[in-house]
Order: sequence, then C-alpha cells, then structure tokens
Amino acid sequence: TLDSFKLEQRSREIAFEKHIKDMASRLEAMKTELESAKEQLNSSQMKAMMDALTQLPNRGAYDMNLAKEYERYRRYGGELSLLVCDVDKFKKINDNYGHQAGDKVLQLISRQVKKGTRDTDFLSRYGGEEFVVILPETSVNEAQGVAEKIRLQVANSPFHFKGERVQITISCGVASFKKGYRPEQVFDAADRALYVAKESGRNQCHIGKL
Ligand code: GH3
Ligand code: MG
Ligand code: MG
Repeated sequence: TLDSFKLEQRSREIAFEKHIKDMASRLEAMKTELESAKEQLNSSQMKAMMDALTQLPNRGAYDMNLAKEYERYRRYGGELSLLVCDVDKFKKINDNYGHQAGDKVLQLISRQVKKGTRDTDFLSRYGGEEFVVILPETSVNEAQGVAEKIRLQVANSPFHFKGERVQITISCGVASFKKGYRPEQVFDAADRALYVAKESGRNQCHIGKL
C-alpha cells in the first residue's frame, strides 16, 4: 500500500510538472503575440500620421505638433513661427505633364523643404500641394530667411518632363506667434501672406501681420 501510494504521488507530481511546463510555454506564446500586436499598432499609428507620397507627416500630425509647440510657447515664451508654402500653378503641371509628373514634383519639393530646414523644425504636407513648417525658437525674420532659401532651391532645381525643361516655383507666407494670439490666427496671417505672394506674381515670400 505504501508503494502504491508513492507511485500515485509520483504520477500526480509528473502530471503537475507537465501542467506547469504547458502554462509556461503558453505564457511565452502570449508574450510573443502581444509584442507583435504592439508593433502592428505602432506601425499603423505611424502610418495614420504619415503622408504616403512624400513620407512627410500629414495634416493630423501637424495639428498635434502645433498644439504641443503652442503649449510650450505659452508656458516658456521665446519664439515660434509658421511657414506655409504652396506650389505655383500646380494644376498646369498636372494638366500639361500628367498626374505622375505632378506627384514627382511634390516628392522633390518635399526633399527641398527638408534640406532647407533644421531637425528641430516640423515639416508637414498640409494639403494637396501645400506644405507647412513649424519653426520653434525662430523669429519672423529668420523664418523668412528659411522660406527664401527653400524658394530659391526649388526655383533653381532643374525639372525635365518629356525632354522639356519645366520651371517649378513655390510661394510662401510666414508669420510668428505673439502673446495673446491663437494658433489659428497665426496660421491665418501666414496664409494671407501667401495669398499676397500669389497676387504679387508668385515665386516670392511674404510676411503676414497678426
Ligand atoms: P496657385 O499658383 O494659385 O497655387 O495655382 P495652383 O494651380 O497651384 O492652385 P490650385 O489650388 O488651383 O490647384 C492645385 C492643384 O494641385 C490641383 C490638384 O489637382 C493638384 N494636386 C493636389 N494634390 C495632388 C497630388 O497628390 N498629386 C498631384 N499630382 N496633384 C495634386
Ligand atoms: Mg493650394
Ligand atoms: Mg498652388
């Protein structure tokens, strides 16, 4: 009876050990699953904030970043500027050379905007052929300098479609934050300056007043 008791005990122990091992491997599998779900979530969150054509942050990402920079500006002061760029007569480029050529132009302009700005600036594709840059710790005159640099880079970049040299230009509007003004008002000032640049003949940068 003692032997049979010991045997029973041993087989219970073996069963229990197996149970623990099973649980451990299930836990391991769940951990792996959780990790890959996290990665998937991260990458789809990134995609939702990204413009697929230019690989720049999109309008939603811009809104989030501006809200953050504005809060920082309100709390700590300093300088904060906005730069709005719009491709000149872009509809004509699409009409004359096709949508794919237009897409290429947008990709090239994105690269020029990236080249002309700092890592601490926030670039975004705001809409179709409009790019907005948030420039922290940058005065309105410095921001105008950045805008001019980008405008000249684009104007001096050679574009060739169907063996033809095509002149691409952009117009820019710049505005800076002042105490007591909301982000929408500053954006509006930059947008109005852009409109003035267009009305004055395009391929130029203007400063907007609040
Ligand atoms: P303006 O100098 O006054 O800005 O003239 P515009 O022709 O650039 O302005 P408008 O707003 O009339 O036209 C913008 C064009 O941009 C129209 C639209 O077809 C084109 N567009 C918007 N998004 C894209 C895109 O992703 N790819 C291409 N190829 N074209 C686009
Ligand atoms: Mg436009
Ligand atoms: Mg345009």
